[in-house]
Amino acid sequence: MFSFVFKYCIYNAFTEDEKQSGGGGAGEDAGGQSGQSEDVEERDRQETGERHEDSTETDMSVEEDTGQTQGARRKTIQTENAVRDVSDLGQKCDGPNQVKLSEYPQQRFRVRKRSFSANWFSHFPWLEYSVSKDAAFCFSCRMFGRNIRHDNFVSTGVSNWKKALDIFKEHEKTPAHRSSMIGWHSFKSCTSHGIVAEQLHSAHEAEIIERRKYLTRIVAVIKFLVKQGIPFRGHNEAISSNNQGNFPECVNLVKEFDPFLQSYTAPSHSTYLSPSSQNEIIECCAEEVSVSIASEIKRA
Ligand SMILES: [Zn+2]
Repeated sequence: MFSFVFKYCIYNAFTEDEKQSGGGGAGEDAGGQSGQSEDVEERDRQETGERHEDSTETDMSVEEDTGQTQGARRKTIQTENAVRDVSDLGQKCDGPNQVKLSEYPQQRFRVRKRSFSANWFSHFPWLEYSVSKDAAFCFSCRMFGRNIRHDNFVSTGVSNWKKALDIFKEHEKTPAHRSSMIGWHSFKSCTSHGIVAEQLHSAHEAEIIERRKYLTRIVAVIKFLVKQGIPFRGHNEAISSNNQGNFPECVNLVKEFDPFLQSYTAPSHSTYLSPSSQNEIIECCAEEVSVSIASEIKRA
């Protein structure tokens, strides 16, 4: 992720150069397809709404002419700006930065003022908005696009709010954007599968811990009965019986004062309450006792 951000910063610095030298943007191209009157408005917008941005770049051009040192300084400033811009947009794992403001900056289009609209987010899930640049970007193309570094949705952003909807729709139709969307969906799918696998793993571990806690209590009851030489079985072990036998009655007694046993429901195949389970645990206890006695004899 870090290397990507770094490359993007460097790239943004160079695209600013291209913009200065008169390179057209996607927004301008889309505007050119909509008629001559709109072209006039587009030029008007360029002469007004974007003037503050252009003036900054013009100042930078002067610096470049004054010497190599200042040119390097200008590059640094641009790179710093690019870093700020990148941090302003969504990261790969977080998705697009669809920031919703009560009011977006307005740009003058002849007599009317226009701005970005938060409603566009609901129509274009890939759309994101940079507050620092007052421009729209395509999250999908930025993160998963290939060979589209010169697209305005990736580099400088789109801020032609008058024709924004047309530009967004045109962008959605491009093969490069569609390809990037496939990449984005694949990424989300892999991520969600990873999360599900992680949740399953955690749930499995939690289940193991609970079963161990349950079994510890069953073994404790069996050890007590074995140690005291008390018979396990009863004459009538049915749940309705008043006396189910020492083992079930002891388990019920522990359960009466143990919140864990009260809340825990053992799986039907792992209750460890059946006679065969009892015998198996008794055999394990006997084996441990035998090993312990043998060890004592060896030490003697
Ligand atoms: Zn795109």
